[in-house]
Amino acid sequence: MRYAEVAVLVRARAVDRLFDYLVPEGMELFAGDAVEVPFGAQRVEGYVLALKDHAQDDSVSYRAITQKLSGQRPPLTKDLIELLDFMRKRYFCTWAAAVSTVLPPVIRSPGKRYYQLDRQWVALHGTQDADADLIAGLDKVFTKKARLAEATLLEKGFSRALLTRFVRQGCLTLELGGSTVSRRSEIWVNAVPDAALNRVRSAHKRELLILLQEKGAPQRYAELLEQGLVTSEMIRSLKAQGLVQVISKPVNESGEETEKRLALTEEQRAAVASIVELIDAKKHETILLQGVTGSGKTEVYLQAIERALQKGLQALVMVPEIALTTQIVARFRRRFGSRVAVLHSRMSERERRHQFASIYEGVADVVVGARSAVFAPLDRLGLLVIDEEHEATYKQDRDPRYVAREIAAWRAARANAPLILGSATPSLEVMYRVESGRYTKRMLKERATGRPLPEVRIVDMRQEMKMNQQGLLSRALRDALKDSFEHQEQAVLLLNRRGFSSFLLCRECGETLTCPHCDVTLTVHRTPEHTLLCHFCNYRAPLRDTCPACGGGRMRTFGAGTQQLEQEVLSWFPNVRVLRMDVDTTAGVGTHEQILSAFSKGEADVLLGTQMIAKGHDFSRVSLVGVVAADAALHVPDFRSAERTFQLLVQVAGRAGRHGREGRVVIQTFAPDHYAIQAAAAQDYEQFYRTELPLRRRLEYPPFTEIAQFIVTHDEESKAREGAQQLHHLLEASLKGCERVQLLSAAPAVVGRIRGAYRYQVVVKYHSFRAVSKRLREAFDQAVAVCGNGVSLHVDINSWMTL
Ligand code: ADP
Ligand code: ZN
Repeated sequence: MRYAEVAVLVRARAVDRLFDYLVPEGMELFAGDAVEVPFGAQRVEGYVLALKDHAQDDSVSYRAITQKLSGQRPPLTKDLIELLDFMRKRYFCTWAAAVSTVLPPVIRSPGKRYYQLDRQWVALHGTQDADADLIAGLDKVFTKKARLAEATLLEKGFSRALLTRFVRQGCLTLELGGSTVSRRSEIWVNAVPDAALNRVRSAHKRELLILLQEKGAPQRYAELLEQGLVTSEMIRSLKAQGLVQVISKPVNESGEETEKRLALTEEQRAAVASIVELIDAKKHETILLQGVTGSGKTEVYLQAIERALQKGLQALVMVPEIALTTQIVARFRRRFGSRVAVLHSRMSERERRHQFASIYEGVADVVVGARSAVFAPLDRLGLLVIDEEHEATYKQDRDPRYVAREIAAWRAARANAPLILGSATPSLEVMYRVESGRYTKRMLKERATGRPLPEVRIVDMRQEMKMNQQGLLSRALRDALKDSFEHQEQAVLLLNRRGFSSFLLCRECGETLTCPHCDVTLTVHRTPEHTLLCHFCNYRAPLRDTCPACGGGRMRTFGAGTQQLEQEVLSWFPNVRVLRMDVDTTAGVGTHEQILSAFSKGEADVLLGTQMIAKGHDFSRVSLVGVVAADAALHVPDFRSAERTFQLLVQVAGRAGRHGREGRVVIQTFAPDHYAIQAAAAQDYEQFYRTELPLRRRLEYPPFTEIAQFIVTHDEESKAREGAQQLHHLLEASLKGCERVQLLSAAPAVVGRIRGAYRYQVVVKYHSFRAVSKRLREAFDQAVAVCGNGVSLHVDINSWMTL
């Protein structure tokens, strides 16, 4: 008898354990396979985590698996199976939640069948240097048919190895589930000369044909796909109509057809060498690659990855938000061609399925993606990279609230692979680990292009107010804009508004009010009565008009919108072309890319928007960056607000003057002397770090402690509050006797209400997750059990763990 230990996809916490099932005679099953199992009166989907000869209790008769859902390959690779347990323990989630986070539903086919690989081989023309006899044999099998199922070819005596060889020679490609993938060859598309456009009814297809005709040369399919211009369906039907040619060009091992690598600077060379050494030795180590903006970190990643690939290993590259990083993906594609798979949530389902297929089949061995790509089913990881490691987007803000950096660290350690963390402004957590000797550091101090870093000027908005300047743009920023327009250059204006909370700011001296216990900004809370509130510990103070620091009478709430800024820019410069990028203008799929590409093509003079414009872009004609309200970031009620402000300012400043004239940056603020703003203006990470670290130590914030934030929500405020208080009691009881643990009172959460539900939070600070995790979990589970209907509980481990 064989038994399978199965994680069933049943959400209820009450049945959150593994179940044993009997494996029916003759069912070929591996750990990681998807199965259908009986569960109560239902049949549910489950995942085999282990196979064994004995069940938990041999005297019980176990029910049998009803069917196997996955295809040839188990969807969960070995390390992903182990990762489930880590996720459960770290993020307090259920087996079911862990599985559904690791494996997105998109890789299941629309029916209940799981991830069916329909392998077909497609005959191509223009075979060169292929073994003539074998090809003749192949042609015979393919007579009249363009594609054949793999089984047919295997039956005819062609082995998989032989088929793969044909692919390399460019006379076959492989299709998986209807999408073309093929190792070492790339698909190019070209319009047939004089293709009759009037035969095409669909606007999308016509658009594509016009584009191809305009280009007049074959275009790389992968790039068209990336730009959202094609689907494989479109190409297939256009091909059938004889309107396009589909060409497969081999990409050989030495990387012809792809971009050449750059000659490295001395600093880059040293960085690559140290990574390569680890790859060669199969040694896990975490390296912080700290490079100023524009220092060429990407080139370091690319060349290190090349080494991993040479060794037959795979690479995983995480970027903060894929929609904002089209440029980086295009660069990876130019270097590694179809060996690159891209994973992110803004792709069509079909496209995502295709990307997964190419990973499972080993066609893609470099995965580039946003947060969830950290679960890519790679079983030969040789290198992991997290670009801009300090970005908050690596943390998921819904359950399970995992941190992709932690998962990457876990996978790297398990795979004996180096983990590279790249940043110009590393998180305090990472730098602290460098200092304590746990991570190593490599620096890139110069811009690779030799361009100087931009010049930064701080504008004191208090002075502007005294001069009776009322608008959002200071005189200095207006002058700078004028100058940049006169030189036909572009400008970026950042109006950072994580605007869910408002705070009081003295228009005369720039003072804000902070919690006496937690040192985070007090925010204006409107329910039940107007008060100032600390979201960490529930400290409250009355609203006020007079400033406690200068006695002035203009304490006002702070906040302005991007639309208002747009109007103001236009009122000063009626003839400039403005592009606005914020949540309102980027709702649709692909809209980020459209706005960014329009801007980089010079279709506008100003790009203004929220923090989404700050990251990673490489615009060649931007010489001016204006930060309209640095204070908004500074006073987010979070102990990381200074750090986030510093990072944001340095990032956005780095967009200026990357190529042409020397860049200029204007930062407007009511707090010109704040250390985060001063250090950002000097672009001096050390200066920031040296000031921030002691503050964190004094107030016992990360990296000196970890913080767990429990969130309780309910449609009625009183129920949410009571739930939080109940949880607080339970935590108090279970943490009794624990040393160096701080439990703070239940308080309204920073985002006090989401979609009508009220949110309360309870914060716990501790020094070692290992020491408290069981106790926290116990209280959490009890709270889940005792809290009434409609109350939901979440946990957010709000820091980078001590692995
Ligand atoms: P970062 O990611 O560190 O901000 P990028 O990788 O975007 O920097 O590089 C900035 C610019 O420098 C890019 O235009 C890139 O092509 C160029 N670059 C990188 N390395 C080199 C090099 N070794 N020689 C010349 N140019 C380089
Ligand atoms: Zn407080």
